Amino acid sequence: MRALRGTMARGVAMLAALSTLTFAQDAVAQELAKNLFGAHQLPAATQPQSIGFYSKGCFSGGVAIATDGPTWQAMRLSRNRRWGHPAMISLIEKLSRDAVQDGWPGLLLGDISQPRGGPMLTGHASHQIGLDADIWFTPMPDRRLTPQERENMSATSLVNEKTHRVIDRLWTPAHERLLKRAASYPEVERILVNPGIKKKLCDTVKGDRAWLRKIRPFWGHDYHFHVRIGCQPGSPDCKRQATVAAGEGCDKSLAWWFTEEPWRPNQNPDAPKARDVMTMASLPKACRAVLEAPDPVSIAAVTYPSAGAPTISRADPIAALAASDGLSTAVSSFAATPEYGAPLPFPRPAD
Ligand SMILES: [Zn+2]
Repeated sequence: MRALRGTMARGVAMLAALSTLTFAQDAVAQELAKNLFGAHQLPAATQPQSIGFYSKGCFSGGVAIATDGPTWQAMRLSRNRRWGHPAMISLIEKLSRDAVQDGWPGLLLGDISQPRGGPMLTGHASHQIGLDADIWFTPMPDRRLTPQERENMSATSLVNEKTHRVIDRLWTPAHERLLKRAASYPEVERILVNPGIKKKLCDTVKGDRAWLRKIRPFWGHDYHFHVRIGCQPGSPDCKRQATVAAGEGCDKSLAWWFTEEPWRPNQNPDAPKARDVMTMASLPKACRAVLEAPDPVSIAAVTYPSAGAPTISRADPIAALAASDGLSTAVSSFAATPEYGAPLPFPRPAD
């Protein structure tokens, strides 16, 4: 009898514990996802995986791009949005090197994702699954920007906001080469630019024009372009976007952007944005596990290239790249980091 009472008591206690747990889970489910994801400073230290859609999802196994590399500098560091799927981070690094080869002085990097993705407290509807990155149209200056400059440096729009056309004195063939290079990678599915920039390309690109198909007109994107790669292997719950329409996209679909319709003032400017109502219940279930997953051992362990790699002199990366008939010693030692597309060992030991 005593044994039975003991069992019952334990049962009641368990039930109570269970209902507390359910209550706690409900509270988490109702909390805005942007607050939960925005609170994480580090990624989920599990296998790289994108879950859900670009504008409704999260990701695990994220890595950060270093704030500085020989061919890039990250901007707006306080936002902590240097995180992405390893394939995205590798691609940015590769683009930065190829761009320098093409004569672009290096990339200024805008937002990628939060450490675990998800909706953000401010800005962007997409960038949630680690497969989107913003890159400035402003060339990297030939000196290291201070953290303060990276916060405050204003971005220059290439587009006249009244006519929605590119400001010709700001547009250069190097801009075209940079976009063409970014579009050249098979994993890049779309590049979002302002309609004025798309039109400029439609009007001026000579020779190979097939890459224009990936260049998609969209609001904003007048001081940066937005590179989106496809769902990566190992992400069964990543939801693919629709394939881009065939053709260069220099047709009626572009002409629409130069009508009044896309620029009409919002009829309901106070309506809540998706991020302001999105709870955990609106995200894929697997995103809860992403929130609960452990942190990596350190930020250095998940920063690419490894923070332990030799520091590169940023004195003159272009001269360094052009030096002799190959890579300078500094750049070679940098290049010793894993090859692009190779999965990073995970979690990597702190060094
Ligand atoms: Zn973007």
